[in-house]
Amino acid sequence: MILSERATQVKTSAELKASAETEKMNINGYDVVNLGTGEVDFETPSYIKEAAIRAIEEGLPRYTSAEGNVELRKAICEKTFSERGFECTPENVVITNGGKQAVFNAVFSIVGQGDEVIISAPYWQSYVELVRLAGGTPVIIHTKQEHGYKMTAHELENALTEKTRAIIVNSPNNPTGALYTPEELNVIADFAEKNDLFVISDEVYDKMIYSGKVRFTSIASLGKEIRERTILINSFSKTYSMTPWRIGYSISDRQTAKAMANIQSHSCTNANVASQYAALAALRGGDGFITQLLNELKRRRDYMSQRISDLPYLRSARPLGGLYIFVNVAGLFGASVNNKAINSGRDVSDILLNKYNVATVAGDVFGEPDFIRLSFAPSMESVILGLNRIEKFIKQNF
Ligand code: PLP
Repeated sequence: MILSERATQVKTSAELKASAETEKMNINGYDVVNLGTGEVDFETPSYIKEAAIRAIEEGLPRYTSAEGNVELRKAICEKTFSERGFECTPENVVITNGGKQAVFNAVFSIVGQGDEVIISAPYWQSYVELVRLAGGTPVIIHTKQEHGYKMTAHELENALTEKTRAIIVNSPNNPTGALYTPEELNVIADFAEKNDLFVISDEVYDKMIYSGKVRFTSIASLGKEIRERTILINSFSKTYSMTPWRIGYSISDRQTAKAMANIQSHSCTNANVASQYAALAALRGGDGFITQLLNELKRRRDYMSQRISDLPYLRSARPLGGLYIFVNVAGLFGASVNNKAINSGRDVSDILLNKYNVATVAGDVFGEPDFIRLSFAPSMESVILGLNRIEKFIKQNF
């Protein structure tokens, strides 16, 4: 039996693979620390869990529309107005099973065979895989550290062809934590407007910012014209520690929202209904949990970035946002560990997993093979243990 070309070419999600490998090795008696996954160890707040339990016990209202529960879509519009300063209505919103499905819906609604989508590297792997699954071509801009890993006007112009349909912006970025300023977003907005492009703005880390000196800006808040061409993606996963609930959403112009809902209606019908009630409680529950979460994540980020900068051969910048530190490990290349030459971030990541029991994600998955990505989302205990093992790896071999 022959699988489709699409199925044989799509790559496994590296983040899910890191979790699966950790679990498998731990079942087999290894004590692997997982610094590969962007999943915080906080429990989902009890007021959120209780809202879902209550909804289940009171009898869930069967299927919702493909777009999702109207109350929840209204609450998202209210939050968007108070945080981003622009108005939308429930017709602009589609509730999805996680932010990832919102990206899927967006890509499948706007990318056709042969269409090009501009994506900046380092990138979140799913953008590239989804654009390819939709028959499109990812056009990669390899951003530079000296530009803060952000796309410049010149790079955007160079990436443009007559097939360009869209550009993906991810701020704060996974894996670098790069955060675009309003001025930098204005450059992208002008470029999108001038060339009649969609913008997919992935804002799932909007709350994960660790410096009081910078603020998150959504490209959709910069004016009516850019808002109409933006598909804003957000999720409850990171903000409310709700990764397993699988609940996210998109905000876009009505026509695109309708197209995305139609696509969703044929894939999963609607987002999980109990999770939709949980999400509503999350929005109504205020920001107390987020403040607590951020304080702890900032502590972990500071600790991890200090430990990495104290280690020889590794280079990284302290991220402004997100859940990760993207570490350049090229200083280790050319050496040999256990008779195996080290020539890439993947080699480093493999040795760390197999010999030092630390799961990381190799940089090639993000389009940058000289790097590995470390997550500071797991517990402080895991962060400390994982870094002790990375330090041991360096001290023993270099
Ligand atoms: N976008 C980015 C940049 C991510 O890193 C993730 C998850 O790691 C998502 C979207 C999707 O998150 P979820 O589907 O869990 O809501």
